[in-house]
Amino acid sequence: MLAVFLGVALVSAGALGWLGWLLLKQDAALESQRRRDMLEQAADRASATMQLAVVELQAALNSPASGNKKLAPGVSRVSIGPDAVTIRPDGSLPYYPDARGARPEPLQTFAEGEQAEFARNDPTGAARAYARLATTANPDVRAGALARLARVHRKQRDIDAALRAYEQLAAIEQADVDGMPAALVARAGRASVFEESGRQPDLRQEAAALQRDLQQGRWRLVKSQYEFYAGQASAWLGAPSAEDRDALTRAEATEWLWQNRASLSATVRRAIALPSGPALMVGQSSSTGLDAMVAGPTFVAALCSQAVAADLRCGLSDPEGRALAGDRPQGRDTAVRAASASGLPWTLHVSARAEAAAVPSPRRRLLVLAFAVVALVLAAGWYFILRAMSRELRVSRLQAEFVAAVSHEFRSPLTSLSHIAELLATDRLASDDLRRKSYDVLVRDTDRLQRLVEGLLDFGRFDAGAAALRLEDVDVSTLVRTTVADFRDRVAADGYAVELSGADAQVLARIDREAISRALWNLLDNAVKYSPECRTVWVALERQDERVSIVVRDQGLGIPINEQREIFDRFVRGAESTARRIRGTGIGLAMVRQIVRAHGGDVSVASEPGKGSTFTLALRVHA
Ligand code: ADP
Repeated sequence: MLAVFLGVALVSAGALGWLGWLLLKQDAALESQRRRDMLEQAADRASATMQLAVVELQAALNSPASGNKKLAPGVSRVSIGPDAVTIRPDGSLPYYPDARGARPEPLQTFAEGEQAEFARNDPTGAARAYARLATTANPDVRAGALARLARVHRKQRDIDAALRAYEQLAAIEQADVDGMPAALVARAGRASVFEESGRQPDLRQEAAALQRDLQQGRWRLVKSQYEFYAGQASAWLGAPSAEDRDALTRAEATEWLWQNRASLSATVRRAIALPSGPALMVGQSSSTGLDAMVAGPTFVAALCSQAVAADLRCGLSDPEGRALAGDRPQGRDTAVRAASASGLPWTLHVSARAEAAAVPSPRRRLLVLAFAVVALVLAAGWYFILRAMSRELRVSRLQAEFVAAVSHEFRSPLTSLSHIAELLATDRLASDDLRRKSYDVLVRDTDRLQRLVEGLLDFGRFDAGAAALRLEDVDVSTLVRTTVADFRDRVAADGYAVELSGADAQVLARIDREAISRALWNLLDNAVKYSPECRTVWVALERQDERVSIVVRDQGLGIPINEQREIFDRFVRGAESTARRIRGTGIGLAMVRQIVRAHGGDVSVASEPGKGSTFTLALRVHA
């Protein structure tokens, strides 16, 4: 039966688990579908937003009023004409793709000074010649002369004079020295002088100013010139230059447009990953030139992050698969809009943020919770059914044992009775002495049978509880004395003694005389039965306030701790008593407990195997 129950329980648990798993799987599939739909929609929206932004950029190009102010931050307008490149806003790029057509230097003008400086090795003469030229009206001549004058002073180690010359040079805005802007030559020259003379604070200040000017595109330089001076400035500052990566990328993109201007189609719409970062170029190209908006990484990244909601991730990649903005998400849960389909210059990837994707939906949580509750209820049900079943099984086993024990209890006196009766009937007992002894046996066995039957009847009677009691005011001392005296008579022949104490004073209680006497008798009977060695049993009457306790103590086998609770249950016999084949049916203590509880009292045991047991029967004194 247990096996069948376990089988059913396992099958139903398996079915429930399987059903739950199926439901969860279905739910997960639905959830994933929902997420995909949401991503697809988000990708469509993002794509539309980006297209709008690109179109706006293009529109700004065509609007006649697209002056410096109208351009979005991080965007430069590049116009490549037949002769020159124009950039708006001015100075928005650190360098230009083309040289700016520097004016050739009037070399012969400096011939006299250079003769003195190099051929004659006469710095004073050279300085004089250059100083004279430094006052002419032509700014280019003036600038060339001042740069040379400063050079001569540096050779002469006249630091102050060199710095003065550079200062004058820096003031000539529109002049060139050797094809380089005069102000740039002056800044670099001053910095070199500070470096040579070990004036560190001045050097740092000058280098920082140079770096700032370079970044702000103060001069129209080509890439190599920019890189040379930017490298110088960061070397003087002793730290890698804090470059404006966005402007650098735009400059790189402008260079790219310049180099590829011949091969571009009429409508330019490109996004490329350049060494400094991603750039977006939108414009028109024709045989006469090119007009385009160039945006750097800041613009591209902002476009990407603004096009999707905060809980989503946006990634852009160029046709070669290189990342332009965001990171290119992996996995199935990504909506992709290819460049060819969307008309955008990049491929767009939209995916859920990892942490958002990991959070289970409320529906799913509810489902898991519901299954957990059902599983819990089922488990609890199984537990209680199993417990009830095992109890039933135990009771039926105990009952079977009880029937066997009772049959045995009856059989032995009955066998002896029928044997003696037969001997007497057939007159086979020779002497009077033998006959008398047979009568004694007959009396003892009849008495035993009678007690057995009475015991069983009483057990049935006291099962009814308090209703079966015939209560009256009884002196417990007298009752105990009488019962002990009766018991003594019965066990004296077997050599047992019962010592009684405390039963002198009168203790009145409202009890069923017969029932309490039966309970005490059962305790005494057990004490003797389970004391094969020590043949004394102690009984004491103890009085505490409202209660009186009848204590029965023996020094017999004792009871293991794990049996001490169970022995008060009906039909339960100790392992030791069955092993030693001590007579008994397992209802004695159950009856004691029934009787005492019906009186509103209690019975308890204290025992140690091998040392003996003490049973205490506590009753209320007055009622
Ligand atoms: P029975 O004595 O007929 O077996 P009881 O209900 O009287 O049934 O006792 C239940 C069990 O309690 C006994 O089988 C025995 O193992 C244990 N027991 C009872 N009284 C004592 C005692 N005085 N000493 C040791 N064991 C005892």
